[in-house]
Amino acid sequence: METQQIYIDGNLLPREEAKISVFDHGLLYGDGIFEGIRSYNGRVFKLEEHIDRLYNSAKAIMLKLPWTKQEIIEAILFTLRANQLQDAYIRLIITRGIGDLGLDPRKCPCPSIIIIADKIVLYPEEFYRNGLEIVSVATRKNIPDALNPAIKSLNYLNNVLAKIESTNANAMEAIMLNLDGYVTEATGMNVFIVKTYDKDSEYKAVLITPPTWVGILKGITREMVMDLAISHNIKVKEDVITRYDLYTADECFLTGTAAEIVPVIKIDGRIISDGRPGKITQKLLKEFHNITKDEGTPIYTK
Ligand code: PMP
Repeated sequence: METQQIYIDGNLLPREEAKISVFDHGLLYGDGIFEGIRSYNGRVFKLEEHIDRLYNSAKAIMLKLPWTKQEIIEAILFTLRANQLQDAYIRLIITRGIGDLGLDPRKCPCPSIIIIADKIVLYPEEFYRNGLEIVSVATRKNIPDALNPAIKSLNYLNNVLAKIESTNANAMEAIMLNLDGYVTEATGMNVFIVKTYDKDSEYKAVLITPPTWVGILKGITREMVMDLAISHNIKVKEDVITRYDLYTADECFLTGTAAEIVPVIKIDGRIISDGRPGKITQKLLKEFHNITKDEGTPIYTK
């Protein structure tokens, strides 16, 4: 197998040689931003949306990007071609760059861009067939006034701590609450519940997900799932969710670029509905796969 090629600041380097400075503020302070992107069948899915979100993250942390959106897109496609990938997971990272040991970002004149394109590691099939058992954790979500979770920053320690808690509880994922006790999101995925009014009809259902102001990342999969539901006549509401709402939901699932749509069947020991992935969850996942099959920015132009 060919050695994986990593893109750093305009150059491709074999993975063993792909290194950054110990004085990079991305390492010293988590001062940087990133995106997790996916390609399916030779097309990069929702690429412009990811680049737009990256620019918003950069704006929020006052990191001036010296590249145009198109240049970043070209760099991603270039890296995918260099690694001969069709179905890939792409990690796009921008660090504040090299500075001194102080915090001051003015000491970092050149941000760095890193692109890692790898084969997608699929979540085990049984996740989708049987659903996940998850827990809510004691670690609260960062308050938006301190560090807004809408910024996809390199500082994920809040999420890492929640992940450790769920692992300690033998659960696959953690649900984080905000300071008011409202459900926010999982450590790297958004959360949805379904309330069904007529058990035999998927159209008598409402899909609910927390609004961004509770303190969440505005997930690109989240947006897409809401649009998909609307196009299938399923009502969608952005509303606050409590742990009680999770326990008594008819269906629950998590969304994210890597995992797509994952059913949840148990939360804090409470079995959701009959303990099997719900009908609407499965329908949305099927529709999601249909769309990813042939949408996106082509990697290889003929
Ligand atoms: N929340 C967090 C904290 C995340 O890291 C991610 C993954 N990027 C998501 C939600 C899901 O976002 P997306 O659908 O854009 O991948």
